[in-house]
Amino acid sequence: MSRTDTDALVVGGGQAALAASYYLRRQGVEHVLLDAAPDPGGAWRHTWPSLRLFSPAAYSSLPGWRMPPTEGEENPDAGHVIDYLTRYEERYDVPVRRPVRVLDVRRRGEGFEVSTDSGSWRARAVVGATGTWSRPFVPAVPGLADFRGLQLHSGGYAGPRAFAGKRVLVVGGANSGAQIATDLLPVAEVTWATLGEPRYLPDHVDGRELFRVASARLRGEGEGVGSLGDIVAVPPVREARDRGSLVPGPMVRGLTRDGAVGADGVERPVDAVIWCTGFRPELSWLSGIEVPRREGRPVTDGTPVVPDVPGLFLLGYGDWCGAASATLIGVGQWARLAAERIRAA
Ligand code: FAD
Repeated sequence: MSRTDTDALVVGGGQAALAASYYLRRQGVEHVLLDAAPDPGGAWRHTWPSLRLFSPAAYSSLPGWRMPPTEGEENPDAGHVIDYLTRYEERYDVPVRRPVRVLDVRRRGEGFEVSTDSGSWRARAVVGATGTWSRPFVPAVPGLADFRGLQLHSGGYAGPRAFAGKRVLVVGGANSGAQIATDLLPVAEVTWATLGEPRYLPDHVDGRELFRVASARLRGEGEGVGSLGDIVAVPPVREARDRGSLVPGPMVRGLTRDGAVGADGVERPVDAVIWCTGFRPELSWLSGIEVPRREGRPVTDGTPVVPDVPGLFLLGYGDWCGAASATLIGVGQWARLAAERIRAA
């Protein structure tokens, strides 16, 4: 198999990888993106049909080029984002190769040796931008393996049709739980179980607030209104909540063969469980490098910088590698920081 050299190698081809490419180009750093997916769009190719962005198009943009507006007042859907990311790649002539899966990254001298399913690379710097969507997390709830009904994770949810007439337990009190529970309300008997009372951002703020909060943090000005994990009351969620249909309940104690045991100890029948319990970073390709970990994640300095591994940057996985870095509008500032560090090294 062939081996190629480059200055910076970006693992992934979703929104975070594109933001990295934008700033690497501006810094004059030669680079390449290797993406395991066959087509542009990253995780947006795997979302459910009713998913809407937290914010209008103009506030959901990557650096350099605003997302074109959608028709009407609706926040964009995933198709609109995929189209935008596809055109963004064309516009900036992003040097992405697909489908190429990175299998392993090792330290080699001052840089890295990167093995893929189609050849290997040497690079001075590596930017990990592999997202979280391919690593759904399900908590270890008692009785999980006994349950005979349908179980799936939000990452595999394809819309309400399969749940018509069913009793569905939706677990998780963040955005995906709120959105999927809302989506199911017209067709199913929904129980929404959350750990603690769900927290909504005030109705007048949306995804723009996430960016404002992140920017304030970057400037050391504290958090401002709301926190990055709060539910954005997108219109369908707000309407369902306000008419009293979207009602949270306490987390279940466990599952049984045909139901769930509530916090009150009573078992109730359930046909399906949808786990809206988040994702973990997809970093299996990094196991060949010793990185100190905290809570199972590589230790960063709160930005994409991994202090113990010079030349390695982790971008877009969540607040632990840059506040709001897992959003379209928030990832740019952290991509810029990584590109500047790579240029300066
Ligand atoms: P991804 O989009 O997951 O891209 C990662 C890419 O890396 C993929 O193409 C994958 O194939 C590739 N890859 C993985 N492993 C390898 C490997 N070993 N080698 C090579 N390539 C690899 N964000 C917003 O900005 N606005 C919103 O309104 C919004 N709403 C959301 C609503 C919900 C309910 C949820 C769950 C998420 C929402 N998000 C939103 C977040 C957004 O969907 C993700 O955070 C975002 O897609 C992450 O982008 P990424 O580039 O980091 O990763």
